[in-house]
Amino acid sequence: MGEKDIYQHDVVIIGGGLAGLRAAVEACDCGADVAVISKVYPLRSHSVAAQGGINAALGNSPAAKDDTWEKHAFDTIKGSVYLADHDAVEVLCREAPETVLELEHWGTVFSRDDEGRIAQRPFGGADVPRTCYAADRTGHNLLNTLFEQASIRNIKFYNEYFVTSLVVDEETCLGCVALDLRSGKVYGFASASVILATGGFGMIYDHSTNSLINTGDGMALAFNAGVQLKDMEFVQFHPTTLYGSNILISEGARGEGAYLVNSEGDRFMARYAPQAKELAPRDIVARSIIKEIEAGRGFEGGFVHLDLRHLGAEIIKERLPGIRQIAMDFADLDPVEVPIPVQPGQHYSMGGIDVNLEGETGLKGLYAVGECACVSVHGANRLGGNSLLDTLVFGKIAGKKACNVSGGGDVPVVKNNISREINRLQGLLNNQGEGFAPLMSELKKTMFERFGIFRDEDNMNEGLCSLKDLRERCQQVAAQGSGKVFNQSLVRVLELGYMLDIAEAVAVSAIERKESRGSHFRTDYPDRSDDQYLKHTIIKQDKAQKRSIDFSPVKLGLFPMKGDADL
Ligand SMILES: Cc1cc2nc3c(=O)[nH]c(=O)nc-3n(C[C@H](O)[C@H](O)[C@H](O)COP(=O)(O)OP(=O)(O)OC[C@H]3O[C@@H](n4cnc5c(N)ncnc54)[C@H](O)[C@@H]3O)c2cc1C
Repeated sequence: MGEKDIYQHDVVIIGGGLAGLRAAVEACDCGADVAVISKVYPLRSHSVAAQGGINAALGNSPAAKDDTWEKHAFDTIKGSVYLADHDAVEVLCREAPETVLELEHWGTVFSRDDEGRIAQRPFGGADVPRTCYAADRTGHNLLNTLFEQASIRNIKFYNEYFVTSLVVDEETCLGCVALDLRSGKVYGFASASVILATGGFGMIYDHSTNSLINTGDGMALAFNAGVQLKDMEFVQFHPTTLYGSNILISEGARGEGAYLVNSEGDRFMARYAPQAKELAPRDIVARSIIKEIEAGRGFEGGFVHLDLRHLGAEIIKERLPGIRQIAMDFADLDPVEVPIPVQPGQHYSMGGIDVNLEGETGLKGLYAVGECACVSVHGANRLGGNSLLDTLVFGKIAGKKACNVSGGGDVPVVKNNISREINRLQGLLNNQGEGFAPLMSELKKTMFERFGIFRDEDNMNEGLCSLKDLRERCQQVAAQGSGKVFNQSLVRVLELGYMLDIAEAVAVSAIERKESRGSHFRTDYPDRSDDQYLKHTIIKQDKAQKRSIDFSPVKLGLFPMKGDADL
């Protein structure tokens, strides 16, 4: 291998979604030489699929005239069931209005109210209409805007490069190694800073709204480099995904006034959350739907109805055109005329790489932002509209921080790592064991059945045993397809390894937390226990791959704690 197999940049960002691109733009504006590596073309990142909107206390809606960042912060902390860190929530909510306006000035076409201001819709867990939106295609609009901004700057893109490992020397991250999917060649990236912006891990679950590429790579890369993961047991299940395909039906639909109705025609959320009804936090709505189905009040196959008909054709077509199209294309029905069959599905990972307010991990030179990070602003349950905000606010901050150090990393160390990775990948190609597909489906099934909406000790312990068996079988898994160019089997095998690492981290953390809080509901410990568990779960792994669990305190101070939310 020659020098040309190593690229040098001040800042290397892994991920071309909203978090990665926002960090890239900021680092570039601070004068750094910036590269973005993405395993797919950036516009295919999962951010593009975000529908419902982004939160900011703009106070544009007449119902939200007195909205403030403090009210936004209060809703976020209450929705997080008091597990979010107050200092991080303050940054998120204070920066929100400026963040939305910046994207607007860059060209995002937000929907408008009658007076021409950015329109805001109600969303779950929010006291007032605070969610800014571009119809029901908010992520698409935001990502295209940011990609445009990144493209007009001097930022180098390595698209369809798959990062296979981080380069770590003692206590410092010096770069990474990536496989160029188009040629099958392995390259090294030497840099002073590496920012992980690799998104969530939805693919470890059956019935997920996530893209196929959301396999938790960055969290696993960090975990394997000895970096701590935080609150991994908190996995959000979205209440309304299309029955059958689990494509998301945005909370924006309920925000516009859609009803959830069981097979008896009853608008059942009134029984579970008399005030908020359909707009209670997601964990509560998802559990209520499952309870209805289990009580025999669902429809055959296991779903309930999301009824939009009373909103009228005009509102549905103007504000929810994407939802209508999804229902027509994938369920062959028009929500203007018939209700949509929905069921809960995995949606978001609240936990992730443990970072401070500036995106720094415990490893010098390594940062994490967006869904792969846990700063933590979502705690035990994320409010809809807060994740897009999280990617932009903390992406910007980390981009600024990372460019403080310049230089192109340590070339000789990166070079050694290239040879090691080439040997490892060749080993995977030589394996003669079973294919990856059965292992992947068993993993997804195990996670959905054992670590889903309702959890208990026995079920989870059995799940953990299954995960260990899967890991054994994975040692010899064959990466079929011998060609070097776009070898998708090799990519899937690498992703399967990451998925197993993350699944185990979720499992072990979930078993450890013996209480119910937000998305983590244990039938054997149905109550929230602030005395014992008002703390973050920390999981890490040493060089001998020995895992350990610990806890860290929640940073309080903005608002006093309250009992379970009054809904
Ligand atoms: C269907 C859907 C709808 C949503 N709607 C909303 C909403 O309305 N409001 C809201 O606030 N949130 C919403 N969310 C959540 C929100 O969209 C995501 O949390 C957020 O967009 C994540 O952005 P990100 O930049 O962290 O990651 P992503 O956008 O997922 O990008 C990850 C990037 O990492 C790259 N990558 C990953 N692994 C590797 C690797 N090994 N090598 C190289 N590159 C790699 C990928 O190529 C990609 O570019 C929604 C989520 C889904 C699934």
